[in-house]
Amino acid sequence: MAETVPSLLAQGAAATRAAAHLPPAAHLPPAAHLPSVAHLPPAAHLPLAAHLPLAAHLPPAAQSADATQSATRPAAEGFDVVVVGAGPAGSAAALTLARAGVRVCLVERGPFPGAKNMYGGVLYGRVLDGLLPGWWQEAPVQRWVTRRATMVVTPTQSLTVDFRTTAWGEPPYNGATVYRSDLDAWLAAKAEAAGAVLLCSTTVTGLTRGPTGQVTGVRTDRPDGDLPARVVVACDGVNSLLAKEAGLYRHPEPEHFTLGVKEVLALPRQDIEARFGLAGREGTDIEILGCTGDVPGGGFLYTNLDTIAVGVVLQLPGLASSGRRPEELIAGLKAHPAVAPLVVGGQLKEYSAHLIPEGGWDMLPDLAADGLLVAGDAAALCLATGIWLEGVNYAIASGAAAGEAAAAALASGDTSAAGLAGYRHRLESSFVLADFKRLRRAPGLVLSERVQRRYPQIACNLVERLFTVDNPNPKPRLLAAGRAELRRSAVRARDLARDAWTALRAFG
Ligand SMILES: Cc1cc2nc3c(=O)[nH]c(=O)nc-3n(C[C@H](O)[C@H](O)[C@H](O)COP(=O)(O)OP(=O)(O)OC[C@H]3O[C@@H](n4cnc5c(N)ncnc54)[C@H](O)[C@@H]3O)c2cc1C
Repeated sequence: MAETVPSLLAQGAAATRAAAHLPPAAHLPPAAHLPSVAHLPPAAHLPLAAHLPLAAHLPPAAQSADATQSATRPAAEGFDVVVVGAGPAGSAAALTLARAGVRVCLVERGPFPGAKNMYGGVLYGRVLDGLLPGWWQEAPVQRWVTRRATMVVTPTQSLTVDFRTTAWGEPPYNGATVYRSDLDAWLAAKAEAAGAVLLCSTTVTGLTRGPTGQVTGVRTDRPDGDLPARVVVACDGVNSLLAKEAGLYRHPEPEHFTLGVKEVLALPRQDIEARFGLAGREGTDIEILGCTGDVPGGGFLYTNLDTIAVGVVLQLPGLASSGRRPEELIAGLKAHPAVAPLVVGGQLKEYSAHLIPEGGWDMLPDLAADGLLVAGDAAALCLATGIWLEGVNYAIASGAAAGEAAAAALASGDTSAAGLAGYRHRLESSFVLADFKRLRRAPGLVLSERVQRRYPQIACNLVERLFTVDNPNPKPRLLAAGRAELRRSAVRARDLARDAWTALRAFG
């Protein structure tokens, strides 16, 4: 039965819970969520079913009992704020707003939060210290990452910096592998417990505007389903429908996007622990450079309790022009001599694909318009710099900042772009824009041809020469061997110096 938004509001959270159980076929995302077809490789048209998580990872009802308090609100009051998208950004925004006493509705197109979401698998949870103190005691963690490796590969070689520390296996922890279906449901339940109304199985199809152009709410795919609000917080993820409709992205470029493709492979827990040298809840995060052939990108390998996540991220224009398919590139990564022993025998449980906004500082949109804020991937706040692929922590921080700014604007009675400007100030004085600004040169450097292909080859060849005992020849001199490798790979000393300088400025 299709219910109208007013009737849902009248029935409150009990109705939102019922709506969450509509049949999945009703929850297919609109085609408009994908970027312009002209910019997409064929792989972006992956079957929608590929986005479904493992049945075993579905949360019980993804709803909190505390949400019933929202049911007492009269429908006529409506909402002060509508937050679109119950990913990490949206739930953090809704939680912050609800705690500030703001009437907030969190709208999610999936049947439950996390139903449609995927990522590599690591949450950097310290961002939750302020929002949910002691979060690690109840977050749905698979493993605590105590081993982090960066692997550089050529088709036949690999060179790994492999770091481990017991410190990351204790509070306050560093990274944790977590399934998105668990994480998103848990965070949304926190927002509900604080008083937000969660409306699932509802796709926002556009913005509504007043006579001056001020955003006055959202349109939804429900009959009679417009939701009025004084502020809309768009947390609808990468390639945000709402940010684009509001004209906040001035120069979206295809090279600012990658396609992330991931397989989840099931293996017995003891096999994972033996292969990766782990005990108890310890986990591994391996980032891989040089594994995507002629397509700029990278790979990753993460351990969960009894599954492994293995995947690649592929720059869109490079993928399109290569004519290669993402599943072919994952198969190549899994067959690499350094990776095959880690994944062999794994049973494919899930295959998923999702766009990533990787342009960093250079692709950030305007963050506010009259009555509108954008946060998380919708604002391109995902940091991908080779060493780091982090989006969830930036989504949570920016969502919370948007919630604070919206609450302050409502209190002051000015929800224009000027009244909402506190959002940008909050991001500027936090790690969010500090990191994006400092690392603005990193995405371009990491995806450059030399970093992607030539330097991995040089590094691997150099180490191979160093460790090869080539008697009766004497040991090679390191400097001479380095020069020979540079000549062989046709990298000019000038380019090497320029890249080193850029790297120093980007990461130093
Ligand atoms: C392959 C891959 C690997 C990654 N690995 C990591 C990692 O290991 N660690 C990390 O920190 N980050 C990682 N990221 C990045 C991370 O996933 C994102 O940065 C993060 O999910 C952004 O959160 P968000 O809440 O902004 O958006 P999303 O998580 O995308 O959530 C958006 C929500 O909005 C909903 N929605 C969208 N449109 C509508 C609509 N019209 N109406 C209603 N609801 C809507 C969606 O269903 C979804 O629930 C990875 C990403 C990919 C693709």
